[in-house]
Amino acid sequence: MSLNAESTAFRSALEVIRAVEPRVADAIGAELADQRESLKLIASENYASPATLLAMGNWFSDKYAEGTVGRRFYAGCQNVDTVEALAAEHARELFGAAHAYVQPHSGIDANLVAFWAILADRVESPALKKAQVRQVNDLTEADWFALRRELGNQRMLGMSLDAGGHLTHGFRPNISGKMFDQRSYGTDPATGLIDYDRVAEAAREFKPLILVAGYSAYPRKVNFRIMREIADSVGATFMVDMAHFAGLVAGKVFTGDFDPVPHAHIVTTTTHKSLRGPRGGMVLCGPELADQVDRGCPMVLGGPLPHVMAAKAVALAEARRPDFADYAERIVDNAQALAEGLLRRGTKLVTGGTDNHLVLLDVSGYGLTGRQAEQALLDSGIVTNRNAVPQDPNGAWYTSGIRIGTPALTTRGLGVAEMDATAELIHTVLSQTQSGSNPDGTPSKAKYVLDPALADKISKQANELLTGFPLYPAVDLG
Ligand SMILES: *Cc1c(COP(=O)(O)O)cnc(C)c1O
Repeated sequence: MSLNAESTAFRSALEVIRAVEPRVADAIGAELADQRESLKLIASENYASPATLLAMGNWFSDKYAEGTVGRRFYAGCQNVDTVEALAAEHARELFGAAHAYVQPHSGIDANLVAFWAILADRVESPALKKAQVRQVNDLTEADWFALRRELGNQRMLGMSLDAGGHLTHGFRPNISGKMFDQRSYGTDPATGLIDYDRVAEAAREFKPLILVAGYSAYPRKVNFRIMREIADSVGATFMVDMAHFAGLVAGKVFTGDFDPVPHAHIVTTTTHKSLRGPRGGMVLCGPELADQVDRGCPMVLGGPLPHVMAAKAVALAEARRPDFADYAERIVDNAQALAEGLLRRGTKLVTGGTDNHLVLLDVSGYGLTGRQAEQALLDSGIVTNRNAVPQDPNGAWYTSGIRIGTPALTTRGLGVAEMDATAELIHTVLSQTQSGSNPDGTPSKAKYVLDPALADKISKQANELLTGFPLYPAVDLG
């Protein structure tokens, strides 16, 4: 019997690896087995296609390619040029952007590129102007001092972390929180939704250089047309970080006011979340910021990863096919079915539902912290992550929320019927888990009590749910 191409490719690759370090080959095989068996509801994860995965495992990894297509600081980049140009072309066509920069290694790196481009474009600094026109040697000590002062403490207004914003939008664990004078906008405590009047008010008071929209835990659409109007009203550059929902933009689920690309000055994204590509990042912008964006490497990025750019080109080509739009629609249908299934069983959801790929459960109604809930679900074969809810009384470590998302399970082919079954499993685990206590009898935010037999039973049911939907069905490692 002859094997299909995918099985042959991965088996052969593992055989070659096994000959050098068998433990790595074993770990790669074990990772596939684990992913096949787990009900993955992590909103930021997905499963890239075999073509995307295979495009990364080759000699493109061996090339240095600093610079941009056709303007490299290294010789022999003609083939890297081909794949980088293809990835950028697919990105421009897919998103309707004038310019695409596909070198960022991750979402954080894409944001750094964007922050630098905006600073370089917007900050009035004669010293910086000299530096940009490559008269760096003419800069005096006083120029450098002025340049650092002028670039420092610029203002950024972004979504608050506990409303679903991201660390890279000016929060302390990320350099953006140290570089920028940051203020954030939250959501309406009653509805959980962004209150655009409050955003406008904050912008008028604070006069940010950069207004950032985008999130990793907000289960609703954002009106980017209104956000752009707010940015324009105070002269801010409007940046959208679509890391989480790029797949919904690519699949034309988010259109009109909800498509960030026509409204933002600059858009950043990851390529590995709902977009279903390789781990990486990307920046889209108009012609005004293109030159600054293209300086990402070496300004804030290490050398490009040509093998990952090759995989980006493959994944973006896939995202341009009509079936990707079906996929994007099914992601949202599934998230809504999951939300409805949970609501019907009495689970509290932030904003009362979803219109994107993610659902944010407030598990305080079950008497649990996010941490307890996350662990109890994991014991039961359901992989999620804890997440703060707005005004979270338990802080960012223990939290009161569980974030779940449907991009990965939708890739496997699960549909609305399975989402209802998933809601039942989640509800059963959470309602059967009790908060635990510390040795001295005080209540614990981490310990919990869950009957191992029940966890086992749910794990089996979660697994049964997946049996009709094999992961990488064409890949048989033997
Ligand atoms: C995931 C995420 C990032 C960071 O992406 P990495 O690839 O992990 O660096 C940035 N911004 C938002 C909004 C995200 O959700």
